[in-house]
Amino acid sequence: MHERPTDQREYRNRLAQSADTGAIMKVDSRSFKKKCVVVAAALGAVLTASSVLIGTDAANEDQRRAPGGEVRRVSGDRIKLKDGRDIEFAAIRLPFEHEPYADKARHTLEKWVNDEGVRLAFDDEWGINDDRLLAYVYANDTFINERLVRAGLAFVKLRAGNRKYEAVLLKAQAEAREERNGMWTLLKATSGVPFVGDEERATFHRPECAKRPGESKAEIQLKGSAEALERGMAPCGKCRPMD
Ligand SMILES: [Zn+2]
Repeated sequence: MHERPTDQREYRNRLAQSADTGAIMKVDSRSFKKKCVVVAAALGAVLTASSVLIGTDAANEDQRRAPGGEVRRVSGDRIKLKDGRDIEFAAIRLPFEHEPYADKARHTLEKWVNDEGVRLAFDDEWGINDDRLLAYVYANDTFINERLVRAGLAFVKLRAGNRKYEAVLLKAQAEAREERNGMWTLLKATSGVPFVGDEERATFHRPECAKRPGESKAEIQLKGSAEALERGMAPCGKCRPMD
């Protein structure tokens, strides 16, 4: 869409101007809510247009949640926006603290979104409340969820309601594994070792794990971690089936 100018000030100006093209919207956090109302009213039509990404039916919901904001900091696997909202990444999971590449993932994410306005897009399942959202994040016109997966810094985690970019994310993960990017330099997927998958939470476990869903729930048998990854399931942080 837009090429990033080298001059930072010009870039910020263009960010502000680009609001009416549906690109990254950057706002002053102090007056964020007030501006939101104005911007949302002014951009109703544009938001509908930008629903190429988010689906027409979701446009009203996105308008209510506001499409973006300025990043205050990265906290673990979340982005905290200056307006107080916490953004979690939809359809992926970053490594937990005790897992390989956890620090690398966090620092890389900081680099990618630091000092940038982020634009958010939503799936059918979009979070817990207005301040804690599950989103597809775009910074500087880059789809960060996909970029993290492609760099081997996040697992794909496809729960129901978070499957809009299933094909894109699974392809990115397959390439990351193939190219041994990031954590895939250390992790090797297996086939022929039985695991159990939790389709509701999109995680997979060792058979002896206490966190497996159990027979009463939607549990599926898997032939190995490779199958689990290809189905968009991420490894359980407790039984660590990739270790
Ligand atoms: Zn487990």
